[in-house]
Amino acid sequence: MQDDRKIRSVAIVGGGTAGWMAASAMAKAFAAPGGSAGPTITVIESETIGTVGVGEATIPPIRQFNSMIGLDEADFMAATGATVKLGIAFHDWSAPGSRYFHGFGDFGPEVRGQAYRQHLFRLHAEGRIDSLEAWSLPSVMAAKGRFAPPSDDPRSVLSAYSYAYHFDAGLFARRLRALAEAAGTVRLEGRIVDVTVDADRVQAVVLEDGRRVESDLFIDCSGFRGLLIEGALKAGYEDWTRWLPCDRAVALPCPATRAPVPYTAATALSAGWRWRIPLQHRVGNGYVYSSAFIDDQAALDELLQGLEAAPVAEPNRLRFVTGRRRMAWKGNVVAVGLASGFLEPLESTSINLIQTGIGRLLELFPDRDFDPALLTEYNRRTAQEFERVRDFIIAHYHLAGRSEGELWRHCRDNAPPDTLAAKLELFRARGEVSLLEDESFREDSWAAVLTGLGVWPRRVSPLVQRLDLDQVQAQAGRLADLIGRAAASLPDHAAYLDARRRSAMGAAA
Ligand SMILES: Cc1cc2nc3c(=O)[nH]c(=O)nc-3n(C[C@H](O)[C@H](O)[C@H](O)COP(=O)(O)OP(=O)(O)OC[C@H]3O[C@@H](n4cnc5c(N)ncnc54)[C@H](O)[C@@H]3O)c2cc1C
Repeated sequence: MQDDRKIRSVAIVGGGTAGWMAASAMAKAFAAPGGSAGPTITVIESETIGTVGVGEATIPPIRQFNSMIGLDEADFMAATGATVKLGIAFHDWSAPGSRYFHGFGDFGPEVRGQAYRQHLFRLHAEGRIDSLEAWSLPSVMAAKGRFAPPSDDPRSVLSAYSYAYHFDAGLFARRLRALAEAAGTVRLEGRIVDVTVDADRVQAVVLEDGRRVESDLFIDCSGFRGLLIEGALKAGYEDWTRWLPCDRAVALPCPATRAPVPYTAATALSAGWRWRIPLQHRVGNGYVYSSAFIDDQAALDELLQGLEAAPVAEPNRLRFVTGRRRMAWKGNVVAVGLASGFLEPLESTSINLIQTGIGRLLELFPDRDFDPALLTEYNRRTAQEFERVRDFIIAHYHLAGRSEGELWRHCRDNAPPDTLAAKLELFRARGEVSLLEDESFREDSWAAVLTGLGVWPRRVSPLVQRLDLDQVQAQAGRLADLIGRAAASLPDHAAYLDARRRSAMGAAA
C-alpha cells in the first residue's frame, strides 16, 4: 500500500455500543507499536437522540473483543454490572411447560472419529435417552447455578465449554468511551443535520451548530436510521419480515429478587417471546412481538403478567424491521451495528455482529483509493454472516410446536429459506449439520436447538450403528456421571461474581 494514500481520518457517526466498540477497537489496532501514526478517530454523538441501549446478552466471542482492547474481566464486570451467561433456557416453545437449553459447549468428545452427539442420537432412536442435556456441561452447570472459567487443559472435562456475559450495554459503551478517549479518540457532542455527498462518497457531516466534520472514512453507527449508509447513500434494505414477523419490543427492567442465574431465559408467549436477563443490579425483561398478531397494550399486559417484581422504569418501546442493509459498505461509508441491519435478540447476536463487522473492516482496511475488491469482499461476507444467523433464528420459530397463538401457526406454515431447508433435511436424514462459510453457531448449537424442539435424525452413521449398543449406553452413562460430578464440584455463580468484584476493588485501591 502506498503510504501517501493512507486513510488519515476516521469519523464514527454514533456513540452507542457500535460506535464505541468501533472507536476502542480501532484506537487499539492503530496503536500497535512499530508503525507510522494511525488515522485520527472522531466519534460524533447526540445525547438528545440517545441510544437503543437494551443490548444485554451476548455470545462467547465478546471475551476476545474485551481482551483485544485490553479490558480486564474484573474491570469490565464491575463497570457494566455483568453476570455470566452459559447459554439460553427456552421455555414453552414446543408446548406449555416444555424446556430445553442451548449451552455454549459441545456434547462430549469424539469417539472413534465420530462426534459424540451421533452416539447420543442413536441412543435416542433406540428409546434409551430423551434429551442431550446431561452431556452438555454448560447446561448442567446452569441448572445447578455453578460457574468457574473453563480449564486450560484440553484433556479435562472442565475444558468443554465457553461462556459469555449479560451486561448493561449503556454502561459498556461508557467504559469503552473512557478507553477510546484515553487512546486519543476525539468525541464531538451534537446533532448531525446534514450530510454532503460527492460522487457516492460522503465528504462531511454538518452539525446543528454549523460545525462541519470532514473525513476520509466514515463509519455509520447511527442506529436504525442509518444516517449515512441509507439517508445519504441509499444503500437499500433487504426486509426479512416474511420469515421473522416480530417487529416490536417492549422492555421493562425490575429489581432482582434472587441471586442471578448464569443463563438467559427465553419464554414463548402468544405473539413472540419474553427475555429474562439477570444483571448484578437488576433483571432485564422484554417482550419481542409481532404487531400483526398483538397490539401494544396487550403485549405490555402479557409482559407485566410474567414479571417477578414491580418494574423500576417506564416501558421502553422499540420498533424494528428485521433484515440487512444491501450494502453494508458503500463508497467511503461502512455501516456497523443497527445501521447495518437487525436480527431480533433471540440468540443475542447483535453485539457479536458489531464485533465481527469491526474485525472484518480492520482486516480489509482500505486506503483512500477504496479498492472495490475490498468493498465487495466485505459486503459478501457481511451478507452471509447475517443470513446464517437469520436461518438459525428462523429455525427456532419454524420448528416450535406451540399451538397457542396465530404467530406460531404462521411461522410453522411459512416455507424457510432454501439454505435452512437444506440444513434441516440433512439433519433429519443423518444428524449432520452442513456448516456454511461465516456461521456464528457450530454443529452442537444447531443440535441443541433442533433436538430441543423435537427434531431428531431418522438415521445415524453406519460407523456409529455398528458399535455394541449396551456398551455405548454404559459409556454414555459414565460420561453423564462425570459431567454431573464436575459441574457439582464448581463454586456457585454468585461466589464467582463476588470474587470478580473483590478483584476489581483491589485493582482500583
Ligand atoms: C429489543 C432489542 C433487544 C436487544 N437485545 C440485544 C441483546 O440481548 N444482545 C445483543 O447483542 N444485542 C441486542 N440488541 C441490539 C443492541 O441493542 C444493538 O445492537 C447495540 O446497542 C448497538 O446499537 P447501535 O450502537 O448500532 O445503535 P444506537 O444504540 O441506536 O446508537 C446510535 C447512535 O447514533 C447517534 N445518532 C443517531 N443519529 C444522530 C444524529 N443525527 N446526530 C448525531 N448522532 C446521532 C445516537 O446519538 C447514538 O449515539 C437489542 C436490540 C433491540 C431493539
